[in-house]
Amino acid sequence: MNLEQVRNSVRDIPDYPKPGIIFKDVSTAYRDGEVFNFIAASIFEKYKDAGITKVVGIEARGFILGAVIAEKLKVGFVPIRKPGKLPAELFSQSYELEYGFDTLEIHQDALQENDVVLIHDDLLATGGTVIAAIDLVSKFKVSSIFVNFFIELDFLKGRDKITQASSVSIWSLIHY
Ligand code: AMP
Repeated sequence: MNLEQVRNSVRDIPDYPKPGIIFKDVSTAYRDGEVFNFIAASIFEKYKDAGITKVVGIEARGFILGAVIAEKLKVGFVPIRKPGKLPAELFSQSYELEYGFDTLEIHQDALQENDVVLIHDDLLATGGTVIAAIDLVSKFKVSSIFVNFFIELDFLKGRDKITQASSVSIWSLIHY
């Protein structure tokens, strides 16, 4: 297994969910046991000595590998969810989409100041989603924040937007 095989396992769906968008369907990568395990092992290798104490996954596709990476690192998993899903006291963060706004939420007791946090999502596009997640995690004044994606769409320059907004360390397994 190598990264080229991983890249080739992601399916392109043109014009989904709307015209002009090429949707990167990770389900074709995750359903293949060898590919899925290689992805998880590669992300684990990158962060195994980083002192991570919590993995934060972004709903919903960020939960899949996020939970596996947390298990491999032997640390806890914290969900960042869409509105109305978390039952206890919350922090909320709204962010701009192409058309309109969306909100992400995290439990107020999910993290502590001494945490070293790895935020995971399946894909970095324009960066709006993960910047909202970074803003939520920053409310806890944690000691450091790492951000990881399975896929980064380089041409959308989400990375530049993140680095303008914060000083987190970003790493993605594959790039298009
Ligand atoms: P953004 O906030 O623009 O970085 O979008 C990131 C979020 O939207 C991630 O949670 C992705 O799962 C999803 N997303 C955005 N663009 C795509 C795409 N072309 N293919 C698959 N998922 C996407």
